[in-house]
Amino acid sequence: LAKANGRNCVRLFEPNDPGGSDLNDRIAGALKDAINRDLVSLAYQPIKHIESGRIDTVEALMRLHTSDGMEISPYFFIPIAEKYGTILDLQLWMIRTVCTEILAECDVLNVSVNISPIELKTADFAASVAAILEETGAPGDRLIFEITERLEIELESEILTCIRALKLLGIRIWLDDFGTGFAGLSWLRLIDFDTVKIDRSFLADCATSEGRILLCDIANLVRNRGPNILVEGVESNEQLVLLRELGIDQAQGFHIGMPSPAERLLRGGAILATARETV
Ligand code: C2E
Ligand code: MG
Ligand code: MG
Ligand code: MG
Repeated sequence: LAKANGRNCVRLFEPNDPGGSDLNDRIAGALKDAINRDLVSLAYQPIKHIESGRIDTVEALMRLHTSDGMEISPYFFIPIAEKYGTILDLQLWMIRTVCTEILAECDVLNVSVNISPIELKTADFAASVAAILEETGAPGDRLIFEITERLEIELESEILTCIRALKLLGIRIWLDDFGTGFAGLSWLRLIDFDTVKIDRSFLADCATSEGRILLCDIANLVRNRGPNILVEGVESNEQLVLLRELGIDQAQGFHIGMPSPAERLLRGGAILATARETV
């Protein structure tokens, strides 16, 4: 585990690599009691409305720490948690934590949470979420669930039923990593997404004019179907300027703000001040 640090670990250990299964077993074991041992935490990354400059939403990202102080990337441990069945407990812990450390603490921020499609197939997932909202008093209409297109799962009827139940709680549904799979287009037809997040690989390709045309086409395709458009992975001011020119609604990335713990997000109050601006 010593080298399982940040994004690099994706390349060092592939979760599906049979040679790494011993390590996967150990991580799955560690995930099982990570919550009890206080080894998981959340980092929140700001999302900006490009036109107004207002930040009223943050994305919650899971962090797993080892007992010797290393951090393991979710790109690595989420697929293991999904495969070994520990994802549901982790996810419910996460939603409860978002409700208590952000939604109950401040009255203006919306929080988006990445949800594994596996959960959406779990029969009582929506009921578990309803119970958490009830128990913490957090308003469902400031909670957003992001569903990734990356996994290319089938949109089975259980998933659509679950999404309908979540929407009745006021929860908004966003499509994450749009353009990375083949599922997105049919999903756009079947689910009324509030916002679509265009994968950061498309912005990275915008150094060339072909890349810019592709991003523009994708944005038009989404816009014509109704949802708001967010582009992820904004790392420079030039990229932000380009997105403004293309009429993209929201932006997220290291240039806008790094993921940081709840205390740091709420301390200082700079983000909360912009969130309150037009309220
Ligand atoms: P994602 O939902 O697409 O989240 C965005 C990822 O891109 C985050 O990585 C974030 O730190 C990173 N990022 C943000 N801005 C930039 C940028 O400007 N440049 C670059 N190169 N990267 C940027 P992170 O935190 O490592 O999360 C990776 C993925 O793990 C997430 O991708 C999401 O799919 C998954 N994940 C994270 N937390 C959870 C969770 O609680 N539940 C589930 N099911 N999946 C999660
Ligand atoms: Mg996401
Ligand atoms: Mg994404
Ligand atoms: Mg992404």
